[in-house]
Amino acid sequence: MAIQRPKGTQDLLPGTIEQWQYLEETIRSVCRDFGYEEIRTPIFEATELFQRGVGQTTDIVKKEMYTFLDKGDRSMTLRPEGTASVCRAYVENKLYGQPLPVKLYYIGPMFRYERPQSGRFRQFHQFGVEVLGADQPLVDAEVISLVWNLYQRLGLAGLEVHLNSVGCPTCRATHREQLQKFLTPKKAELCDDCQERFERNPLRILDCKNPNCQAVTEGAPTTLDTLCPDCGAHFEKVLSLLREAGVAYRTNPRLVRGLDYYTKTAFEVMVEEIGAQSAICGGGRYDGLVQEIEGPATPGIGFAMGLERVLAALQVQGKFSERRSKPFAMLIALGDKAQNEGFSLVSALRARGIPVSMDLLGRSLKAQLKMANREGAEFALILGEEELERGVLLLRDLTSGDQIEVPVNEAVEVVCMKQQRGV
Ligand SMILES: [Zn+2]
Ligand SMILES: [Zn+2]
Repeated sequence: MAIQRPKGTQDLLPGTIEQWQYLEETIRSVCRDFGYEEIRTPIFEATELFQRGVGQTTDIVKKEMYTFLDKGDRSMTLRPEGTASVCRAYVENKLYGQPLPVKLYYIGPMFRYERPQSGRFRQFHQFGVEVLGADQPLVDAEVISLVWNLYQRLGLAGLEVHLNSVGCPTCRATHREQLQKFLTPKKAELCDDCQERFERNPLRILDCKNPNCQAVTEGAPTTLDTLCPDCGAHFEKVLSLLREAGVAYRTNPRLVRGLDYYTKTAFEVMVEEIGAQSAICGGGRYDGLVQEIEGPATPGIGFAMGLERVLAALQVQGKFSERRSKPFAMLIALGDKAQNEGFSLVSALRARGIPVSMDLLGRSLKAQLKMANREGAEFALILGEEELERGVLLLRDLTSGDQIEVPVNEAVEVVCMKQQRGV
């Protein structure tokens, strides 16, 4: 059997790739407008980076990483997410020496060994933003408003930001105590995972998807109930800024990120699809992460979104038009001599930035015209032996069928003029 691509990966072919390019271009233009700069980190990193930066207890690190020993017996891992790498690069390249905050974004493939199912891939793509070196609520609001702005430009509808504050180590300790107290009499009713979380990470019990656990935690104290004055004021300020920016949001105390280095703001952007809401972007503040990987104490906030997920939402909402790139003109050369002259014309047009294509297989006139129509060209430049002898070519408007003769030595100018006029 012929070799096939690995399970959970995709070939992105012409016809589909235009949608990716459109999405990536829109992302880049929004990031430019917000003053965020791109960073590209390696596809693989020392395994330890993710163990520390994503967390030993997470499903990602426990079950989903592509980890291998390289030929020097070092444990390496294909990156399962982007934040840890960006923080590592921030520390390693001493970006903290620059004016703060450092505002970065990335776009690229990530790798997780997941059970392949519709919409889930083992190699998938993320766009993410990280802002390092500022702890003001204004930064949280800017980051959320960047996501909001992106989705507006893409034309996505039915969006809502869900927001929570998970507090800081101080107020989290209070919450942990109150939550354990609340759950102790009902502990036996929790699912196995939550039993395990009870000591290690009780906050995560609040976002368990098990309906039983959700019933048990009904009325449980939330982190919003126990925020210290500092965290409370931070959260209020973020909400008021989002109102200023016209972002639709709601607070959701069950939105939690359980690791110690997550602090204060946590958010997800939900999109409405066929009657149900699902998350299309997730992020939050991580004031303890850079220290976790042995950098200087640095507040940070960011988000990531799966591009496959965004494309699927655009598809569902019918927000894609035909975006395949088209040649403006197609050069049709008949015969060997005309092919030489034609190639010279095509080269001159391309040098002027005109998208033009040419038959490469010596097809018949009829076949070449058919190809010009299929590719969506606006004009055909027809150069036969007879025209060549008279020093002219036929310029045919493929929409109207109108045709004029143009001297070969004026053809480049004529085509450039037509393109500038947008005909
Ligand atoms: Zn606090
Ligand atoms: Zn549970």
